[in-house]
Amino acid sequence: MTQRIYNFNAGPAALPLPVLEHIQEEMLDFRGSGMSILEVSHRSKWFEDVLDDTTARIKRLLKLDDRYHVLFLQGGASMQFCMVPMNLAVAGKPVDYVDTGTWSTKAIKEARIQGLDVRVVASSQEKEFTYIPKEVPSDGKAAYLHLTSNNTIRGTQWRLFPDSAGIPIVCDMSSDIFSRIFDPAPFGLIYAGAQKNAGPAGVTLVIVRDDMLERVPATLPTMLKYTTYVEKKSMFNTPPTFAIYVMGLVTQWIEETVGGIEKMEGVNNRKAALLYDYLDSQNFYRGTAMPDSRSFMNVTFRLPTEELEQKFIKESLASGLGGLKGHRSVGGCRASIYNAVPTEAVQALVDFMKEFARKNG
Ligand code: PMP
Repeated sequence: MTQRIYNFNAGPAALPLPVLEHIQEEMLDFRGSGMSILEVSHRSKWFEDVLDDTTARIKRLLKLDDRYHVLFLQGGASMQFCMVPMNLAVAGKPVDYVDTGTWSTKAIKEARIQGLDVRVVASSQEKEFTYIPKEVPSDGKAAYLHLTSNNTIRGTQWRLFPDSAGIPIVCDMSSDIFSRIFDPAPFGLIYAGAQKNAGPAGVTLVIVRDDMLERVPATLPTMLKYTTYVEKKSMFNTPPTFAIYVMGLVTQWIEETVGGIEKMEGVNNRKAALLYDYLDSQNFYRGTAMPDSRSFMNVTFRLPTEELEQKFIKESLASGLGGLKGHRSVGGCRASIYNAVPTEAVQALVDFMKEFARKNG
């Protein structure tokens, strides 16, 4: 029996155990093909079924109507930082961005490289990105408004999306897709690297609404046009077959084992409350995000000194709790409690934190 730890990695991150077991079970003979999923042709019926099933599950889970196309791309969420402005900018119109930390900042940089009129309409930079801006002004002129729904590094999350006054929202949901219910209507495009809440690294989910496709310039290289992926059902070239297959199993797990996004959100709320209630009840650890902007996916906190933080990370790992080191750009500690992290893992973390504070406080 292999020894698995409680995995609090930020991404690649924990996958549901039943998904890993399912992969293991059908690894050598994928559904009667006599081959593994890694070896079947992407043009085969076996893979076509995987792609169709995964697409249908994503549409059901997110309650997407027929105007939305579900696409599977490569290049990570980072590739979307440049593809979004390339495809969705409109001549003569500005593009609006909210800067809530590293990943938003990178998205802004890529739009600026393209020489667009980029307006940062709200930012929390002056307080080290510890909160989500309350006001997002709109004059109704932008081609789109770009948001990062969950800020993986700073541990902040849009609890409610702002009113964009009819401007299509483009949203990087890399670290909270499938974690909660939201109304897709204001979104023109959603993208998410899979390796946090949706599957393994190697595939990026892009959900794009029909009307956005009219903007795609004919002059873009074929591989960089969203229309190519729509027209060719994400199979213009070889797609990341294994990653899509695993994303299919993860969405199946949410639908059939957890019981849907509503149930998933309930579990996530309870997990986050467990950890934040503890953080609020003591003063050894200090949460870094403002309470009304806290992420339910990435819980960031500091200890009294950096020495204690190092000790905490080392000793937690020795106790079977992995991945609690904060992002290298900000330091401190971070517990990523994505969908696949079970409640008992969060309880084990809180128990460890209590004991550590008692010994070192
Ligand atoms: N956006 C967010 C919110 C992220 O957390 C990350 C990765 N940590 C990225 C974008 C970049 O993703 P990728 O590595 O897939 O390019």
